[in-house]
Amino acid sequence: MRTNTGQIVHLEDYRPTDFVLERVDLTFELDPTETKVEARMIFHRREGVSPSAPLVLDGDELKMTGLLLDQEELPAALYEATDDTLTIRGLPETAPFEITVTTVLSPETNTKLMGLYRTSDVYCTQCEAEGFRRITYFPDRPDVLAVYTVNIIADKATAPLLLSNGNYLGGADMGDGRHFASWFDPHPKPSYLFALVAGDLGVVEDTFTTVSGREVALRIYVEHGKEPRAAYAMDALKRSMKWDEEAFGREYDLDIFMIVAVSDFNMGAMENKGLNIFNDKYVLADPETATDADYANIEAIIAHEYFHNWTGNRITCRDWFQLCLKEGLTVYRDHEFSADMRSRTVKRIAEVRHLKSEQFPEDAGPLAHPVRPTKYREINNFYTTTVYEKGSEVTRMIATILGRDLFKKGMDLYFERHDGQAVTIEDFVACFEAASGRDLTQFSLWYHQAGTPLVTASGSYDADKQTYTLSLEQTIPPTPGQSAKKPMHIPLRLGLLLQDGSEAIPTAISGADVTADVVHLTERKQTVTFSGIPSRPVPSFNRDFSAPINLHVEQSAEDRALIARHEVDLFARWQALNTMALDNLVKAAAEARSAQPVTCDGALVDGLLAAAAEEELEPAFRSQVLSLPSEADIAREIGSDNDPDAIHAGRQAMLAAIAAAGRDTFALLVDKMSLSGPFRPDAESAGRRALRNAALSYLVYADDRPEKAANAFRAANNMTDLSHALTLLAHRFPDTDETVEALAVFKKRFADNALVIDKWFAIQATIPGAATLDRIRTLMSDPLFNASNPNRVRALVGTFAFANATGFNRADGEGYRFLAHQILDIDARNPQLAARILTSMRSWRSLEKVRADHARGALEEIARASNLSADVSDIVDRMLK
Ligand code: ZN
Repeated sequence: MRTNTGQIVHLEDYRPTDFVLERVDLTFELDPTETKVEARMIFHRREGVSPSAPLVLDGDELKMTGLLLDQEELPAALYEATDDTLTIRGLPETAPFEITVTTVLSPETNTKLMGLYRTSDVYCTQCEAEGFRRITYFPDRPDVLAVYTVNIIADKATAPLLLSNGNYLGGADMGDGRHFASWFDPHPKPSYLFALVAGDLGVVEDTFTTVSGREVALRIYVEHGKEPRAAYAMDALKRSMKWDEEAFGREYDLDIFMIVAVSDFNMGAMENKGLNIFNDKYVLADPETATDADYANIEAIIAHEYFHNWTGNRITCRDWFQLCLKEGLTVYRDHEFSADMRSRTVKRIAEVRHLKSEQFPEDAGPLAHPVRPTKYREINNFYTTTVYEKGSEVTRMIATILGRDLFKKGMDLYFERHDGQAVTIEDFVACFEAASGRDLTQFSLWYHQAGTPLVTASGSYDADKQTYTLSLEQTIPPTPGQSAKKPMHIPLRLGLLLQDGSEAIPTAISGADVTADVVHLTERKQTVTFSGIPSRPVPSFNRDFSAPINLHVEQSAEDRALIARHEVDLFARWQALNTMALDNLVKAAAEARSAQPVTCDGALVDGLLAAAAEEELEPAFRSQVLSLPSEADIAREIGSDNDPDAIHAGRQAMLAAIAAAGRDTFALLVDKMSLSGPFRPDAESAGRRALRNAALSYLVYADDRPEKAANAFRAANNMTDLSHALTLLAHRFPDTDETVEALAVFKKRFADNALVIDKWFAIQATIPGAATLDRIRTLMSDPLFNASNPNRVRALVGTFAFANATGFNRADGEGYRFLAHQILDIDARNPQLAARILTSMRSWRSLEKVRADHARGALEEIARASNLSADVSDIVDRMLK
């Protein structure tokens, strides 16, 4: 039985509102359990709308205490309030009118963290996607753009700081222990970008002078005492502002830009106009407590939210089906930013690893959906890696197809044409068509067809004619609601390498459009012939991962090794080694499953060790080479009937073989890559740490005693090295005295820093093997665990389900049943968080039968529960369908 099933929303049902909202005045009288909100909204009826059409506003769990039309009380006969709407009749035909709604909220008991809530005694809001309707009745949809004035009244002692969007107008003491502040945002915006923060926080201040010479005040608000840990975020913000001016010609548009870090947040961060609100995990950093990965994440997310000011805020989405319009594009922009700040190749490798391990499984399972979906039941469930990361890849392909200059011309046109509007993917694509004169109709299928295309390739060389012919075929697997697919426009970058490693320059290419090294695949089957090729070439496909596809090609280890040694595209070198490793790991899993000895290909070991030792290559790149595909990557490659224990055993055996063969190389690297002097978080130092730790890992795999890892733990002087050493200890030697002691030391040292304790939880949650479930249960009753804080829950329960293949997928199904109970428990407080963690089971159908049956049982148990939220019910239903 269910209470809240949620209605299905269809893209084709979109139509503009009957009433235009001109402006909004909000007054908040803040109180933990009885906040009074007065919303004054000026509307007029849109031209052509029937004079009898009522005004329908959205609401969610609201308590309304007043309703006025032009300051007069509305007779009860003229309105009707239900659970989720307020309908008002008898409104003026053409004249503007004012509606005043008064509501009373309890932020303290708002555990969904949507709307107005409390976090560590601070009032804060989260409105995307549909949180504003939890504050007042409102046309809560992204195509309603209005100018907002916000007045905040609060107790002066506990909330000295009163913030909202836009520019500060003024404030005063009210003489009764309270004070007020007023903010005005001159830029029309949708309600999802509204924000309010009130409380007692510390601040870091700086300024940025824009390209046209305006000075912008920058403020980052954090808990008192944490100010020094916001320095890196501030630096990242200033670099983002400068980069957006240079790379995209975008200047900031208010007098002040604020970021507030909060410790209870469902997502990473939120781009509210002029007042970004962040999960503090993505703001706070110092060498003692943050890893290199944390620094890189902070830089990327600060940039991402800042870039939304133009791609999302100035130009927003017409409806939530267009989410990728702002998210895919903004991820693309933050990827480009990080590539410019760090190593482009290493950044690209990290992006592709992430895409393949997160988005590809989503696209291959029951939750698959197009980048631009056409229906949803719960929009919160569409903040997915498909909308974000595949959306970014689609934008990247437009840049690849058009080339740098035309892509820029298209972006400029987009900003010029649509500034101040709420638009669609079609509007976006039309700008690139207009700028380039190219027809992107077929290309647009990337937005509409779900599933990762599979390209199968085979080549043949004709020595007499000196031609090389590639036969290429694309298939797009069926996905929920889409059985038959059309062929797509796939921009495949490729090179033909000759045996000496040089690149063949064809005298002619027939069978496909080609621009530079991009071959445009547009047919289901295509034969491409390259002329003037002097000897049998080795094709290197999908350079720089120009298209987000799976590629099947028979290629020998020797050919892959040639690419790994000579490709000019460094990404392709990594890709060749990684593919070689993946093939071998798939074989190793099969061997382990049938209790045969695991064999490790000599060419792979040679290739890995050669790249690891190659001083011409940057350390961060070499560390990526040494990091083998994950257990989840192997499972995805195998595709069906997966046995996580066999995958784990095969991978461990491969690691051991590489470790044994490379002992000297790794020992040398550990020495060579050590750093002296004070900690620096820059990309180069991070790369050296990464390579050193990768080498150290292999030394530890080759060893059966914990001393090396324990020594590394004692010697570490930064969080990257410390958490790495602790991971080695815990994963490789879980029950030794050394590990028990290190875990205790770590806990004691960081007990007052919740973000670091999350690492302590996550490291233990990923200890391989069936015994970890009991450990998780014990950790859940640790006083440092807090089931109502999303970061804690994600660190322990989320990490276990998402990143511990052997522990979670226990053959007896206990892992799934544990998760089912956790989901129901979390769902009662925070549906969004519960639904998100439940997606960890999205690949359950690709498990071997015994586990798959247990998984289905656990999902059915969730589906049967009463009072399920729309969020969880949507996910579980799609997973069982
Ligand atoms: Zn975003």
